[in-house]
Amino acid sequence: MLGASRRWRAEGRSIGLVPTMGALHAGHMRLVETARGENDVVVVSLFINPMQFGPNEDLDRYPRDWDRDAKMLQEAEVDAVYRPTAAEMYPPGASTRVHVRGVTDGLEGAARPRHFEGVATVVTKLLAAVAPDRAYFGQKDAQQVAVVNRLARDLDLGVEIRVVPTVREPDGLALSSRNVYLGPEERKAARSISAALREAAAAYSSGERDPVRLRARIAARLTLEPLVHLEYAELVDPATFQKPGTLAVIAARVGKTRLIDNHDVTKPFPG
Ligand code: AMP
Repeated sequence: MLGASRRWRAEGRSIGLVPTMGALHAGHMRLVETARGENDVVVVSLFINPMQFGPNEDLDRYPRDWDRDAKMLQEAEVDAVYRPTAAEMYPPGASTRVHVRGVTDGLEGAARPRHFEGVATVVTKLLAAVAPDRAYFGQKDAQQVAVVNRLARDLDLGVEIRVVPTVREPDGLALSSRNVYLGPEERKAARSISAALREAAAAYSSGERDPVRLRARIAARLTLEPLVHLEYAELVDPATFQKPGTLAVIAARVGKTRLIDNHDVTKPFPG
């Protein structure tokens, strides 16, 4: 991959990288379109990174549909797809891990031990392999954005991290490859996650500034749904992921499916 990047760069063409784990949806494609608009060359990486999955997580059943992904990427006029195997990524003896401190301590970092170490390691390797000018990440994974921003700065990676707003279903549910796990009743109940964020933004705009009360409102909305089990709801600073802040972040289980979402309550909820 690096050879192609060096040629593009020698020709003076700018490169945008969109890292994904495949099972592409309109959220991923929004990242691709954004990259398309800002770069001469767009590279999409597709790698289901075993290092970022915990032992009891969904690595084995994570959705995979390469033929469909390939078609979508072709239609979006992506210049190259980087699709390494796990053995290429992590050859025997590979023992280096990238650990970003602080921002990875709480929330997703606490719920999924070593998850962000897997993310930071693979993102570092993808950036080294593709050497893009810009790399594109979704606001949907807000703590991941904070981790990648920190990483790019701390290691002087010389890449511009671009963040793309969350793409949602008409009823507000954030698009996610994991939404395919939801049964019809669960899918209906999942709506309450974005509804809770919408209510928090409305409360903020009506003058509510107390993060404890905003948090309580979110929790109350989610406990109305018997199929939804709230894991956490917090208001944090979007860069440090420390409390207090105005970014409302939620993780909830709907049946067996774990979903996350977030919204900056100082802004109106879209739609
Ligand atoms: P994934 O394949 O789930 O690792 O996601 C690849 C990239 O797409 C990440 O930067 C995600 O944050 C981003 N992404 C996932 N879902 C959405 C969404 N609904 N809207 C915008 N970006 C998203």
